[in-house]
Amino acid sequence: MKLATFDNDRVGIVTGERIIDVTDQVRALPHSSGVSTMRALIQNWPVSGGALTEFAAGVSRDLSEVQLQVPVPDPTKIIAAPVNYADHMNEMNESSHVSSLGIFLKAPSSLLAHDGIIQLPYTDRRFDQEGELALIVGRRARHVSVDDALDYVFGYTGLLDITMRGGEDRSTRKSFETFTPMGPWLVTSDEFGSPEDVDLQCSVSGRMRQKANTCDLIWGVAKLLAYVSSVMTLEPGDVITTGTPAGVGPINDGDEIELQLSGIGRLAVAVRAANAVPCPTNGAGKGPVPPPPPA
Ligand code: MN
Repeated sequence: MKLATFDNDRVGIVTGERIIDVTDQVRALPHSSGVSTMRALIQNWPVSGGALTEFAAGVSRDLSEVQLQVPVPDPTKIIAAPVNYADHMNEMNESSHVSSLGIFLKAPSSLLAHDGIIQLPYTDRRFDQEGELALIVGRRARHVSVDDALDYVFGYTGLLDITMRGGEDRSTRKSFETFTPMGPWLVTSDEFGSPEDVDLQCSVSGRMRQKANTCDLIWGVAKLLAYVSSVMTLEPGDVITTGTPAGVGPINDGDEIELQLSGIGRLAVAVRAANAVPCPTNGAGKGPVPPPPPA
């Protein structure tokens, strides 16, 4: 099932070019106060799966009539793998990957919906695209085993881990407002199937930069989720993004980024540098050395 958040915190089931609004039915289910409709739905998993199948008989609208929002607009945290493909480790001239680096956090306030605009904050720094497969946690997870880990995944979505290059801490470089485009919707794990054979393609202004398959992840989804749950308690709706393959490169004012994932679809955003200012920190030229811009 493809589930989207749209308009003002409404949730719908996407079927082809149509969307069935199930907001009122989801809001009637028991849930904690102050959470988005999508998190209310996830809190009711797996009950909600059966219920939604009945809702699916409801009235549908054309997708073009609604404004897609971030599928989970209010995760308690976004966890990310720093280096999780060998070819990306090589292009960054890194000698370490996830097994010695561990994970880092991106601010939830950096989320951006499909069709949104990435705002580059600085005039004098390099910013790159990183196309990634992300998973949405389905229920509270703490000290989960690798064997059980996939049972905790509610669904999958596309994520762009937009990054400033340099020596500042990753949480700084990757948490600017609009630096985490996510969507266009999520696909529930029962429909999605194995996360270990997902084709990933990411292009910038029509030129293909990243082409990979998640079978090449150093730590696959199960191992990554199990590890994260040994560090922190995962809550329903939390996002874990799996890392990016080779092909990162600079993005600039006027660029358009497209991330295509098999089984999910296409996430597209634009890049603008309006109101950019000189960077107040001096990490430029420090940190991992990124590849030269594509010719
Ligand atoms: Mn990344």
